[in-house]
Amino acid sequence: MSNYAGVIHHATSILCSNKGSLDLQQLHRKILQRVEITEDDFWYIVKKCSRFVVVRNRERTDEWGTDCVVVAKTSLRLCRNYTKDGCRDCQELHLCKYFVYGNCRYGKGRKQCKFSHDVFSEHNYRLLRDCTLHELHEDELFLLLLQNDPSLLPEVTPRSST
Ligand SMILES: [Zn+2]
Ligand SMILES: [Zn+2]
Repeated sequence: MSNYAGVIHHATSILCSNKGSLDLQQLHRKILQRVEITEDDFWYIVKKCSRFVVVRNRERTDEWGTDCVVVAKTSLRLCRNYTKDGCRDCQELHLCKYFVYGNCRYGKGRKQCKFSHDVFSEHNYRLLRDCTLHELHEDELFLLLLQNDPSLLPEVTPRSST
């Protein structure tokens, strides 16, 4: 097998455009449209790579193999000290969290947001590259961040979701 990194990137991208998770078999089928990889090899990558978590979907155990759902994961977080001055040599993203939610009031119009909306700033890009997330689209990356950072979640939950 030639290109682990390519498969990982491609799978991450597919997962993120499917709300962060997908059936193992479905994911493999989509991968095959671009990369030649056997189911065994793919399964191996999914299990080994910290980018993915496999969960059992208990509601669907009828068909063989469809009960495994792959979820995209990252340890990358938004910096929480970023709002304060003097955060340096930090290993977390310096971004406006409302921008990541998609509801920052600033940045589009007259008033500049005081936090960064620059996903690929020097600081952020280095971290993204270390996690090999730098090739993701902005919205894919944001979904990944929101899905993985528990500290981000409570505020995005709509008040009347039921
Ligand atoms: Zn920081
Ligand atoms: Zn902002």
